[in-house]
Amino acid sequence: MKVLVINCGSSSLKYQLFNMENETVLAKGLVERIGLEGSVLKHQPAGKDKVEIKAEVPNHKVAVKLMLDALVHEEYGVIKDIKEIAAVGHRVVHGGEKFSGSVRIDDKVMETLKECINLAPLHNPPNIWGIEAVKEILPDVPMVGVFDTAFHQTMPEHAYIYGVPYELYEKYSVRRYGFHGTSHRYVSMRAAMLLNRPIETLKLVTLHLGNGSSISAVNGGKSVENSMGFTPLEGITMGTRCGSIDPYLPIFIMEKEGIPIEKINDYLNKKCGVLGISGVSSDFRDIEKAAEEGNHRAKLALKVFAYQAKKYIGAYAAAMNGLDAVVFTGGIGENSSLVRKMICEDMDYFGIKIDEEKNNIRGKEADISAEGSKTKVLVIPTNEELMIARDTVALI
Ligand code: AMP
Repeated sequence: MKVLVINCGSSSLKYQLFNMENETVLAKGLVERIGLEGSVLKHQPAGKDKVEIKAEVPNHKVAVKLMLDALVHEEYGVIKDIKEIAAVGHRVVHGGEKFSGSVRIDDKVMETLKECINLAPLHNPPNIWGIEAVKEILPDVPMVGVFDTAFHQTMPEHAYIYGVPYELYEKYSVRRYGFHGTSHRYVSMRAAMLLNRPIETLKLVTLHLGNGSSISAVNGGKSVENSMGFTPLEGITMGTRCGSIDPYLPIFIMEKEGIPIEKINDYLNKKCGVLGISGVSSDFRDIEKAAEEGNHRAKLALKVFAYQAKKYIGAYAAAMNGLDAVVFTGGIGENSSLVRKMICEDMDYFGIKIDEEKNNIRGKEADISAEGSKTKVLVIPTNEELMIARDTVALI
């Protein structure tokens, strides 16, 4: 069975076509600059050269058409006929409290998805455009929605309620939701397999560290906490997002810097984080290089990031009353041995000790714990697309 996985952003469409008989990727790609000048499709068929196709792509429907044309293309296509696509799985950022798992998409689900727009006004609309575009072009193909928030719906009430009037929860659904759920779910499952233990017996802290970073407490296979909150702005400081700060700070910044209310969200999302601290870049490779060359603010940015991550591990070990393993994933978690080392340093109280040599790896699954480390430390490359494809198969 062939399953297409789609992840739509406001100006991009990422896709992977899976052969689910053996869970291999037949092709993957990305349409960039949708609705802008210079749109391009970058298409990578498995085992063949990557192709770049420049085209005018004014909207997501045209992007979907372009992708489908590439998938069936004589030269660089991977299937003969569109009809080979048995189902399409869509990544959807926010499912609110309505979706605690993946769902088969029908008209009622579409309505509910639209109701969730006010919770994620930047992210959910492009996800919906992607679904609508596929529905128009492939009306008979079943579709499934997989939500970033769904895995965290098992969070207990005391973990998701903020210290603000309860009426705000009742009126506007103001609460912690948590994000990157598909990634946290995938690496938790893999961790149980690698540790050869039933997931129900494990207390895990999973660290998805990338441009956006979130940390989860996963107890017995269920998410009980996530560092991101009502929006993906909360939590540890990120590439360009501020993470958790004194709630008064935005008001102070607006006053002092003369930033109007409609611009402050952009400022906190795009000008802060390790970019704001270091003044160098939001990319950890650049920051690590600058730190190596002696740049104080770059060194500081790394320290702030690692220190905040470390504090979450401690907090979540307390929340779960135990810790069996710490799992690193995401671009930074999978690739940066320096950041992993900084986070795991001086954590012997929690039984965490890594082996420097084993830690010297990038982008592959590994147990990097030192001999005798009571708490295991794992690196597990995430695979949200595969998770979406699996859910899609399960639901159709
Ligand atoms: P993601 O959002 O998961 O794609 O992760 C992107 C982040 O991963 C960027 O900040 C990159 O700097 C970081 N990253 C990727 N490769 C490396 C590497 N080799 N060392 C350090 N950071 C890396």
